Amino acid sequence: MTEELSTREISRMYREYINPDLTRVIRITGLGTVEDHAEGCWVWDNTGQKYLDMAGGYGVFCIGHSHPHVIEAIEKQLHKMSLSAKVFFTEAQARLAKKLAEITPGDLKFTFFCNSGTEAVEGALKIARLRTGRTVFVAMENAFHGKSTGSLAVSGRPNYRAPFAPLMPEVRHVPFGDFQTLESAVDESVAAVIIEPVQGEGGIHVAPDGYMQKIREVCDKHGALLIADEVQTGFGRTGKMFAVNHWNVVPDILVMAKALSGGIIPIGAFIGTPNVWQAFKGRPTIHTSTFGGSALACTAGLATLEVYEKENLCEKSAQSGAYFKGRLQELAGKYGEIIKEVRGLGLLLGIETTREEYAGSVISEMAHRNIIAVYTLNQPKVIRFEPCLSIGREEIDLCLKSLEESLAKTRSMFAGKFND
Ligand code: PLP
Repeated sequence: MTEELSTREISRMYREYINPDLTRVIRITGLGTVEDHAEGCWVWDNTGQKYLDMAGGYGVFCIGHSHPHVIEAIEKQLHKMSLSAKVFFTEAQARLAKKLAEITPGDLKFTFFCNSGTEAVEGALKIARLRTGRTVFVAMENAFHGKSTGSLAVSGRPNYRAPFAPLMPEVRHVPFGDFQTLESAVDESVAAVIIEPVQGEGGIHVAPDGYMQKIREVCDKHGALLIADEVQTGFGRTGKMFAVNHWNVVPDILVMAKALSGGIIPIGAFIGTPNVWQAFKGRPTIHTSTFGGSALACTAGLATLEVYEKENLCEKSAQSGAYFKGRLQELAGKYGEIIKEVRGLGLLLGIETTREEYAGSVISEMAHRNIIAVYTLNQPKVIRFEPCLSIGREEIDLCLKSLEESLAKTRSMFAGKFND
């Protein structure tokens, strides 16, 4: 057993061997400590301090940290075979693909497995091009689809994109929620429209009523595919198994990752209709992944989906989310100069602050009170909450108490600082 390192030493090694600026950022948030173990909605650091995890790994820990049912399943599998020899069939992969066909809407049926969200988006974009023979994508401003070059090309934050230009060409970005502009961008050259039904990293923006349905119609009219990126919204996060279910829209391709394997083993996947899968006809290896679809990851996926059924997690997410959102709205009424708006669905909630400085202060005050909250990547004014779906009232109330104290502290710290 190697000797345990101190927090100071680990932080120094981050600075020297990983990323000096990232080390500084982690320290500034007030959480410059070392994670040790985690269970349910809670994370412990190496000094034994306990934190309520209201960030949930940005969507990974829907069933909570270290769920015993998933751990037990993969422990068994680990001793049999973990990665695939790639020349045989893998039972867990077959079972998980069947299960995904059952729980996703409409005629979504065939699944490709990989290892992360960005990889799943890449695959979806490639298959859309292959199936349609077209090259143009319509994507949303402010969208986040990952940071590999294809998914970055359809993402919408200029800061992340510009240093890598030129990216994949022929992407038309349109404002999220503005159907007219989208309609004028879709024509017979468009392979697909790609959208997060609720923008996560873009600042928790929920598709307005009727929007998703109208996008479906305009795609059908022009023979373009609809790709729903549910990497963050999938698996009960928004109060339904998939966010598209809120509007009864069936995409041609649905992209998933994060929560699918219970936060234990990385996984990514995209599921498509039989029509889309014709892209693979005669060329089954046109898109592949060495690690994708391993017995270990798929076993974790199957066990995770069993947890959803046993624990009614989608209903819990809807109920707890409604309570939490209502209480956040009350706080917005009390702290109107700091909170501009409360948004979200289920347990994907965000509060937009009126200033980035306020968001930073509230997040760091909450960290000092042992509550993990984070801002959204493309919109630092927005503090997001996405805890595990089984979170109890008591834990939500604890978070709200800390939030209120942090708002009050921020109000007094910044009193008279800004003239607007
Ligand atoms: N798509 C969405 C909607 C996401 O939120 C993310 C990550 O936050 C990704 C794709 C990229 O996933 P990954 O970080 O696993 O590559």
